[in-house]
Amino acid sequence: MTKIFCIANQKGGVGKTTTAVNLAAGLAQVGQRVLLVDLDPQGNATMGSGVDKRGLALTVYDVLLESASIAEARVKSEKLIAGGCSYDILGANRELTGAEVELVDVERREKRLKQALGEVQQDYDFILIDCPPSLSMLTLNGLCCAHGVIVPMQCEYFALEGLTDLVNTIKQVHANLNKELAIIGLLRVMFDPRITLQQQVSEQLKSHFGNKVFNTVIPRNVRLAEAPSYGVPGVVFDPSSKGAQAFVAFAREMVERIDTM
Ligand code: ADP
Ligand code: MG
Repeated sequence: MTKIFCIANQKGGVGKTTTAVNLAAGLAQVGQRVLLVDLDPQGNATMGSGVDKRGLALTVYDVLLESASIAEARVKSEKLIAGGCSYDILGANRELTGAEVELVDVERREKRLKQALGEVQQDYDFILIDCPPSLSMLTLNGLCCAHGVIVPMQCEYFALEGLTDLVNTIKQVHANLNKELAIIGLLRVMFDPRITLQQQVSEQLKSHFGNKVFNTVIPRNVRLAEAPSYGVPGVVFDPSSKGAQAFVAFAREMVERIDTM
């Protein structure tokens, strides 16, 4: 059965897009069929997958407004095919900013993406949704169709504070809109083991959230940060780098978790 996961955290710059793109590539590399949905008007997941957001005829915006189906709007990246780990992309660009306002008067507006995914779901093992840094209508559309949420977080002092809002939102969506929604796990990203505070926060996370904390830890690794400017995930850009290896390990951990879910 297809598993649909949101990569969410209302903070910006915490590693959501890096996680979405590299998990998509890592899953593709271990033989999974993947669709990556870019739900952020910044379009970073689109660009980071080697698709030029400015040249897209159809995006997730058209899907949300029901002027296109996902089958029509999804694209493949030549760079990913060449890199040997291809996945499909439902892209986004600045146009998506307007969706929030345009959907205001629409009925069941938070279920638009869910409805559209229903038609293509069977084509994939995993559908990953890269959410914007807010708890907006766009993020809500993601949460309404997902089985779970993957929360990338840096092990810093304020990280835990921000988590409370996200956990409350997820609880509300679970209670009112999507009974299936759960937190799949917290992913420690940009981790630097030399920093004592990061180790401490990491321990706090584990004692507080137990097995909701993924075993895999994504290290701070410059190759992951360089990859987007080449339009490929870090996993493709430099497969031997520590960052790439961590994301492939994370993809394997996800596949194992699914088997026990
Ligand atoms: P978000 O989508 O949450 O805004 P991004 O994934 O865009 O966050 O990451 C923010 C910045 O941090 C980007 O410049 C990205 O390249 C960089 N970055 C993310 N993860 C890592 C990592 N593990 N090591 C080094 N740089 C990273
Ligand atoms: Mg992002």
